[in-house]
Amino acid sequence: MAAVRKGGEGYNMARYTGPVCRLCRRFGDKLMLKGERCSTPKCPLEKRSTPPGRRPLARRRSRISERGLQLREKQKLRFSYGILERQFRRVFVGAKKGPGTTGENLLILLERRLDNVVYRLGFADSRAQARQIVRHGHIMVNGRKTDIPSFLVKSGDVVKWREASTKTEYYKRVAEEIEEKFIPDWLSLDKESMTGRVLNLPGKDDIELGFNQKAIVEYYSR
Ligand code: SF4
Repeated sequence: MAAVRKGGEGYNMARYTGPVCRLCRRFGDKLMLKGERCSTPKCPLEKRSTPPGRRPLARRRSRISERGLQLREKQKLRFSYGILERQFRRVFVGAKKGPGTTGENLLILLERRLDNVVYRLGFADSRAQARQIVRHGHIMVNGRKTDIPSFLVKSGDVVKWREASTKTEYYKRVAEEIEEKFIPDWLSLDKESMTGRVLNLPGKDDIELGFNQKAIVEYYSR
């Protein structure tokens, strides 16, 4: 197996802490890790999509085995949701147990994470920021402070800010900009009170389509 450079092909360190745009360039796909910047022409992928590194090396990396492709797809999804390998594998095991296809179940379970819901409600520009908001105890689920980013929401859950957090400058900025945010169909948001509600669990029409589910399932099935 080829040696894994720091920040290189394997990215097998627990949680990647390098420049996130580098990950997108590596995978040749927009993983939307930098919030607002990702949807603007400032996104480096709008200008070039070659992998980081010198060109000859980049060309060598393009010859990728089937196993390498599966690993790449799995890493792409894992980095998009910003979770550790250990947790990701646990989610995969849960996805296998559910009805329906494992690939869809996996994406649905990832969507149900509280940090993702906070991001989807427009309370944060990126999932990394959403995770920090949750961890710092700014969010309540059904009236109870919930500071576990991996908490899985269920239909009918109410997600809102803690009273004390509504006094912060960050909250005020989010509240000012909330009008422009797009909220997916499975969630609703009262923009006056900044209260979100899970209308129903996300279905297959609500999950991200940019991931090769089959390759991810095959990666873990060996
Ligand atoms: Fe990826 Fe966003 Fe950086 Fe673009 S701006 S390369 S989408 S993290």
